[in-house]
Amino acid sequence: MIYDVIIIGSGPAGLAAAIYAQRSELNNIVIEKTGFSGGQIINTYEVDNYPGTPGISGFDLSAKFREHCDRLNTTFITGEVIDFKLENDIKLVTLDDGSQYRSKAVVIATGGSPRHLNVPGEDKFSGLGISYCATCDGAFYKGRTVAVVGGGDVAVEDAIFLSRIAEKVYVIHRRDEFRALKSSANKLLSLDNVTVLWDSVVEGINGSETVESLDIKNVKTDEKSNIEVAGVFIAVGYIPSSQVYKDILATDEQGYIIAGESCETNVPGIFAAGDIRTKDLRQIITAASDGANAITGVERYLNNI
Ligand code: NAP
Repeated sequence: MIYDVIIIGSGPAGLAAAIYAQRSELNNIVIEKTGFSGGQIINTYEVDNYPGTPGISGFDLSAKFREHCDRLNTTFITGEVIDFKLENDIKLVTLDDGSQYRSKAVVIATGGSPRHLNVPGEDKFSGLGISYCATCDGAFYKGRTVAVVGGGDVAVEDAIFLSRIAEKVYVIHRRDEFRALKSSANKLLSLDNVTVLWDSVVEGINGSETVESLDIKNVKTDEKSNIEVAGVFIAVGYIPSSQVYKDILATDEQGYIIAGESCETNVPGIFAAGDIRTKDLRQIITAASDGANAITGVERYLNNI
């Protein structure tokens, strides 16, 4: 059997693509790694910026997306894609159980995962004072002291967001200037309750039940210190889940699949949707929008082959 389109990934981009594919009567399947739909948002405490569902939890929103797909009778297959090949114009997807699926078009919506610091205490306190999403978990730290690790746009925006909730925010950055946009960096530096620890790295995360303090090292002076915090937000970039596709598709230096708003990649018939593609704003709404755009592109592609 050769499907019209295989959708890989069942986060907001993949599920939106599935809804559009079913409604367009494309012969499609969705391959999801865990057998649980929703992607990263499953762990999001509250989603307050997706229209029509104020204050919903990420878990409940994913359940709604999935319910919508089920109402349209979408076929889900559980498995991890371990190989991806082209047989002329046909795309061949191999899963970890050895099963293989062929299609005319593919939508890759595999997202990514937050990069970890890989320091002692990080695994132990994940979800117990360590968060990779300030907008999800920031509200837990009202009136407390927190730290943000990183110097990119996400770290700086997270720190600005947290400064409105927490009593004090440390920003720990390994260099002496931010990578983030100057305008947001300047805004951050103007805030009274924010202290930036420049040229500094976290060497350990300590506590008993939850996070209580961080071991810090200044990389220029080698001076070590310890700061007391109730929470730490790690914002040191994302690792896109694009490894399997890298031999075939063009990616940027960070591994994001190069694709614009049309979600078209450098290979006709292969589309990249959601966080996996190069884009400025990685949010649920832009991921869902990509799912729609990608399937529209798939239809255009199928009509022309
Ligand atoms: P990013 O731009 O890659 O920044 C990651 C930050 O973490 C950098 O400051 C980096 O330090 C630091 N870092 C990386 N690995 C580290 C490690 N092991 N230990 C300590 N620090 C580490 O990632 P991001 O902030 O998640 O942003 C991702 C993308 O989305 C970027 O392209 C960003 O511009 C974009 N974005 C844009 C907006 C916006 O336009 N408003 C908002 C959010 C995100 P160095 O600086 O030393 O490399």
